[in-house]
Amino acid sequence: MADGKDKAEAAELLRRKRAGNWYADGVKFRCLAPECSDCCSGKRGEGYVWVNADEMEAIAGYLGLEFDKFTRTFIRQIEWSFSLIEKPNHDCIFLKDGGCSIYEVRPTQCRTYPFWPDIMRAPETWKREGEQCPGIGADAHVDGAEVERQLETDIEGRRRNSVE
Ligand code: SF4
Ligand code: SF4
Repeated sequence: MADGKDKAEAAELLRRKRAGNWYADGVKFRCLAPECSDCCSGKRGEGYVWVNADEMEAIAGYLGLEFDKFTRTFIRQIEWSFSLIEKPNHDCIFLKDGGCSIYEVRPTQCRTYPFWPDIMRAPETWKREGEQCPGIGADAHVDGAEVERQLETDIEGRRRNSVE
């Protein structure tokens, strides 16, 4: 049975969960790249890397390609939104030699992972994502304010990409 302190902690966790900011005291996360590139790979099957027009322009410029040539070669339209294409094994098209070949201009969702709304919804969804991302639970502390900043950046990116 939980003692008084455990009960108080459980009550506080429940309060934060209800308030939607269970991560207020921060979370443990450190990306293990370049040893890991699981979130860029096709391990989980088909996926989408959403991009908006500004991001497409930035990547095209980085690659030295005309915008039209870039979009014809690397972009697919999914309903009203746009995603990078994948390799036949579902790896991101820009995953090369275990790393991101456009790292400096990678799209917003690549910068904000794993601080995505669906993942940060609750401790359970965060923990479940840890089965896919070995950086979750690693030996580094990301404070709650930084988590919130990343989440807001991600949500704004989704809004711009029409994939809210
Ligand atoms: S799966 Fe996690 S640890 Fe691996 S590259 Fe992606 S963010 Fe980093
Ligand atoms: S653009 Fe780069 S960071 Fe984003 S999924 Fe592709 S390889 Fe990974």
